[in-house]
Amino acid sequence: MKKNITSSLLAFATLAVAMAQSPAPEAEKLNIVTSFLPVQSHTLAIAGDHANVKQLLAKDTGPHDFQLTPADVKKLSDADLLIINGAGIEEWLGELIKKSGNKNLVVVDTSNRIKLVESAEEIEIGHSHSHAHDHDHGDGANPHIWLDPVIAKKQAANIVAALQKADPPNASAYAQNGRAYEAKLWALDSDYRSTLAPLPNKNLVTFHDAFPYLAARYQLNYVGAISEFPEKDPTPKQLAALIDKIRSLKVGVLFAENGYAPGLLKKIASETGAKVSELDTLEVGQGTPTAYLDRMGANLESLRSAFGKGD
Ligand SMILES: [Zn+2]
Repeated sequence: MKKNITSSLLAFATLAVAMAQSPAPEAEKLNIVTSFLPVQSHTLAIAGDHANVKQLLAKDTGPHDFQLTPADVKKLSDADLLIINGAGIEEWLGELIKKSGNKNLVVVDTSNRIKLVESAEEIEIGHSHSHAHDHDHGDGANPHIWLDPVIAKKQAANIVAALQKADPPNASAYAQNGRAYEAKLWALDSDYRSTLAPLPNKNLVTFHDAFPYLAARYQLNYVGAISEFPEKDPTPKQLAALIDKIRSLKVGVLFAENGYAPGLLKKIASETGAKVSELDTLEVGQGTPTAYLDRMGANLESLRSAFGKGD
């Protein structure tokens, strides 16, 4: 009997030591759902081992063409936080949140306190126009803020603050991970500046209207995009105006994007004598702690190689 008590006590002590040393059990960790690749990447880097982080969009779906499934509703039903890009790109979220029935869900909009614009021209001029064109971007703002590394850093800071608020015991870990990640975003920004500044003829023509923030940040000449968003064809008048600009500026490279067949873009390239390269909008794919940094790095290489040829 005595032996039994001793061994039970020993077993209990061993268990207690093991519990104190290991991270919180999965069931006690913060459950976070993010919308798509950039916010998933930032959140994974900041959360480290301290939270369960799931991406809502499947790796082959972009935020412009998202369709709700019962599995998406289920993902949200037991989440504590839902972290989104915001700026109107996840406009399908309202219905999803309602269907999940999760009354305790906290939605973190990472575009909070970030200045939104409709076009690169507006960023450069620094004041607001009252353009009256039809738009799929909520209130008219262009939502592609994540493609500017400096804005991404603000989004990451918003994620750090949200995680600290939701999970105070791990606040210092989130701050530490956030500082390390922020340093990587600064390095990315610095690479963009030093690589792009000396290049001539930085005329940027892309497939969809995803790069005005990036263009404004690094002083690229944002000539225009073929489509406002994927699967929306331009009108013949818009197309003719863009082709005129491509010809008059002697634009040497048009940027298609991964995930979308650029039939129209190829046609414009062959009509104007431009070459075709690729830029990644980071809208499609699975976020990992380094996916944002890696794919933005690949974009910089694409830009360097296109603009470096002195078109
Ligand atoms: Zn887009």
